[in-house]
Amino acid sequence: HEAAVITIDGPSGSGKGTLSRLLAQKLGWHFLDSGAIYRVLALATIHHHIDPEDEDAVQPLAAHLDVQFNTDEQGEVRIILEGENVSSAIRSEEVGMTASKVAALPRVREALLRRQRAFRDTPGLVADGRDMGTVVFPQAKVKIFLTASAEVRAERRYLQLKNKGFDVKIGDLLSDIKARDERDTNRAAAPLVAAEDSLMLDSSEKDITQVLDEVYQYAKSKL
Ligand code: C5P
Repeated sequence: HEAAVITIDGPSGSGKGTLSRLLAQKLGWHFLDSGAIYRVLALATIHHHIDPEDEDAVQPLAAHLDVQFNTDEQGEVRIILEGENVSSAIRSEEVGMTASKVAALPRVREALLRRQRAFRDTPGLVADGRDMGTVVFPQAKVKIFLTASAEVRAERRYLQLKNKGFDVKIGDLLSDIKARDERDTNRAAAPLVAAEDSLMLDSSEKDITQVLDEVYQYAKSKL
């Protein structure tokens, strides 16, 4: 008997990160931020001066990635790469862009599958990413695909990064978001696409409490 899974997929800035975290909290379930794994790998390629598009070089790095997700007493997750706390460093735009490059490599995705599936545990898992419902947990009982317009997403990202002390321009963020969407949607390996059996939600005109409420009710009706 395997633990239940709720998958939340969508483009960056759709609000899926916040939604997944809050939903996991509300249910008392485990949480997988799969994007963070790709970001950590991206940071590792930067540290080791590896070309993020060189599959032969990135694959072994992915297979042996020395990363830990530690939750402290406050419930904050600390992400440790090769002994170093990289929780803030992985959130930069440079790392996000590099992540979408390593994430386009099929053998790299393959190497990270088992690591992601290991997060599945009782009483349940909320999994946040691009291919959680299509590839990593295709048998999940509840699948959500969350979108928002590129403009709304750029604005949210701007506020998020500003809050973390990053110096960013909204115009740059909008073009970054469009470039990343383009790469994530058009790649051959596990492209960003809604699973057929997913609930499609557009968060452009909604705040996070509304979305959380809707998803919680939907999940309860399906579980
Ligand atoms: O969600 P986040 O912005 O942290 O993800 C960073 C990048 O990692 C995405 O742009 C995407 O290319 C990649 N990713 C992925 N599959 C996932 C999660 C993230 O390809 N499940």
